[in-house]
Amino acid sequence: MPARRKYSKLFKACIKCKYLVPLDTPRCPVCGSENFTENWSGIVIVVDMEKSDIAKMLDIKVPGRYAIRLGT
Ligand SMILES: [Zn+2]
Repeated sequence: MPARRKYSKLFKACIKCKYLVPLDTPRCPVCGSENFTENWSGIVIVVDMEKSDIAKMLDIKVPGRYAIRLGT
């Protein structure tokens, strides 16, 4: 089973900051939002913000998994 496909089944994305959390997480640990979507695509894993151009591009301030795009 490809790991890439598994992600979308296991995580939902915070609508506010795009942080990815397990489906059973009630609140975003980054921004505190309770609004999530399971309709997202693309994943970026940020470990070191200082060295990550994509983290700067997406304005990511906390290390973790993020969705690149959210569905409507
Ligand atoms: Zn959030």
